[in-house]
Amino acid sequence: MRKYEDTYRHKGLRKKLVDLLRSKHITDENVLTAINNIPRHYFMDSALDNIAYEDRAFPISDGQTISQPYTVAYQSQLLQVKPGDKVLEIGTGSIFQASVLAEMGAKVFTIERQKNLFEKTKQFVFKSKYANLKFFYGDGFEGLPTYAPFDKVIITAAAPFIPPKLIQQLKPGGFMVIPVDDEKGEHQRMLRLTKNADGTYGEEVFENFSFVPMLTGKNR
Ligand code: SAH
Repeated sequence: MRKYEDTYRHKGLRKKLVDLLRSKHITDENVLTAINNIPRHYFMDSALDNIAYEDRAFPISDGQTISQPYTVAYQSQLLQVKPGDKVLEIGTGSIFQASVLAEMGAKVFTIERQKNLFEKTKQFVFKSKYANLKFFYGDGFEGLPTYAPFDKVIITAAAPFIPPKLIQQLKPGGFMVIPVDDEKGEHQRMLRLTKNADGTYGEEVFENFSFVPMLTGKNR
């Protein structure tokens, strides 16, 4: 069994990471507080303990990554999370992004398509702390019709297009934050969509990012 320890050194490194995010124009104090409260090194292999607070993505198992803290902060900030918001996340991965949203008081429903990663969520260290975080094994393109509608939807993999079913499952006035492939498929443009009462949506375009692909179907 792995032993989890959040030492003064970890806390110090985390504070420096938060200062760095601030210098990169992350201004939502609720996002910064959540990142300051969550031991990111718990979400990664213990061998990466010393570098867990660098502002970069790292490999986790099954060929996937834990997103860069800046990316997590950026998407969380665009989502304008309020306590009690129902948030759907596509791409559970390491559970770090989902934990940030849960720490901010959202009711989080997160979907992962890879069985191995989903199985790992059963041993999640903060399971009892985040009773407001629920895990699902499935294809994110389908969303979670049973639990819809959602106040917010966040996609944490590179989407080839805007999934129509996820728009349907968004409340009018709700936001979707989604990185969508550019023409060359090399990068993704971060979009924030706002759903209108008639089912159409407005679109704002933000910075470019680089995500692992959003793939169709479940993987055993
Ligand atoms: N939010 C994660 C980022 C993980 S990387 C974190 O904080 O660490 C993206 C994840 O999306 C991967 O785990 C990948 O398996 C998953 N994914 C890709 N396509 C998906 C889909 N259609 N449905 C659900 N998950 C998907």
